Amino acid sequence: STFEGLGLDKMLIRHMANKMHVDKPTAIQRSCLPFMLSSPLDPDATIDEGTPLRDVLLQAQTGSGKTLAYLLPIVQTLLPLSRLSYIDRSIGTLAIILAPTRELAQQISKVVEQLCSMSFAQEDEDDRPFTRWLVSGLLTGGSTRTHEKARLRKGVPILVSTPGRLLDHLQNTASFQCAKTMFLVLDEADRLMDLGFEETIQGIIRALEGRRRNEINVEKEMDEEGGGAMRWGFWGRGRMN
Ligand code: AMP
Repeated sequence: STFEGLGLDKMLIRHMANKMHVDKPTAIQRSCLPFMLSSPLDPDATIDEGTPLRDVLLQAQTGSGKTLAYLLPIVQTLLPLSRLSYIDRSIGTLAIILAPTRELAQQISKVVEQLCSMSFAQEDEDDRPFTRWLVSGLLTGGSTRTHEKARLRKGVPILVSTPGRLLDHLQNTASFQCAKTMFLVLDEADRLMDLGFEETIQGIIRALEGRRRNEINVEKEMDEEGGGAMRWGFWGRGRMN
């Protein structure tokens, strides 16, 4: 089967073939992409207490392509938001990927950067979404807290982090905008648990839910290009392990 047959966006397919030499899905990608891409998040949906989460658990060996298996649905979901977000940068962080070690976080961050460097989106700006805004950021305690805070204030749509540092920012960085975060990935979830991060991760989930509740349904005025007033709902959310 092909990426196209699995429901992947043509822009992404072209980009992966040209820039990443990825043109045929691996086994894990074949088995999870149809499900993860099948119920696109409803732009008008709002999340309330009763809204079910869509949890996905992926299990595969290292080298099997699991990073792209979870990144592709995230990036594809975020693509339609691009134009709006380009206008309104305050959208903040939409996806968070947690990794057990700084090294793994760095590797993941590189893949996100490759995936998001879709210069072809500028070819036909009128009917194609911008992707230039879709950048990743890395928070691992590798740089100073002040530097990371400044980065968060600018807005980081896709954030890759280690658990301790993320919780630290959730508790201490007021300008960290994450009320609209809709994806949480625990990469190497078993190792995260082995290393004793369970409580930290529960703290992260509580903090994210707290921010979401406080800022649900913010009315936003769009400028002319955005076409009048619109209501921000949440595009649904998925948690992925
Ligand atoms: P991972 O299992 O996520 O660590 O991926 C292992 C390696 O496989 C990475 O270098 C990816 O770039 C590469 N990769 C992922 N998906 C594919 C694919 N469909 N075709 C070829 N290489 C891939």
